[in-house]
Amino acid sequence: MTRPDFRPDFRPDFRHVDVWLFDLDNTLYDANCGVFPQIDRNMKRFLMAEFGLDEARAHAYQKELYRDYGTTLSGLMNRHNMDPARFLEHVHDIDLAELAHDAHLREALARLPGRKAIFTNGSRRHAENIAAKLGVLDEFDAIFDIVSADYRPKPDPLAYEAVLGHYGAKGERAAMFEDLKRNLVPAAALGMTTVWIANDAPWSHGGPPMPDDGEDHVHHVAEAVAAFLHSIETGDPA
Ligand SMILES: [Mg+2]
Repeated sequence: MTRPDFRPDFRPDFRHVDVWLFDLDNTLYDANCGVFPQIDRNMKRFLMAEFGLDEARAHAYQKELYRDYGTTLSGLMNRHNMDPARFLEHVHDIDLAELAHDAHLREALARLPGRKAIFTNGSRRHAENIAAKLGVLDEFDAIFDIVSADYRPKPDPLAYEAVLGHYGAKGERAAMFEDLKRNLVPAAALGMTTVWIANDAPWSHGGPPMPDDGEDHVHHVAEAVAAFLHSIETGDPA
């Protein structure tokens, strides 16, 4: 006889966590939904127009900047003194028609005790647009974007320290959810519990393998953030 309330004995233990940090792109929404390829395409088109490159060269240059500077934007700012606002406005000009309200995610976020933030290398406006379309914007009490990080993108450890500083929290009390494994390296080093949102979309792996692409900094693997959040054990609501 099956018990409708049956649950496996093992539930990931997050009772120590009251600061919840979520990457945005390909973490809060499914990497296969068609949003991120538009951003990727816009970055490539920006490079083509800016430097007069054909598509293949723009693609190669984008990967080079990503490899050497962590993000395309960081590379453009370092090498070309690029105005970040101009770049971000261009790349985040995307169609969000494929994103819908995600009640499952909203419920999952609502049950988490403590503080919840979006921690993204994108812009605040982009984060607000996406989160609003998913119907979860008011579940977050802060958005840490690339501007608030003083244009130091993840995985720069200073960006993570700034987020913890904002909350006056030690890393041990925080959990971080992210689709790019390399961005979990500093999180784990600061004591955070890490969750890699795994997907097989090629852009999630973002170019050449990084020397820090091992597994030690990945504490949990989840296919989708909402289902994982529903599965974990949390502390009492504050
Ligand atoms: Mg991401």
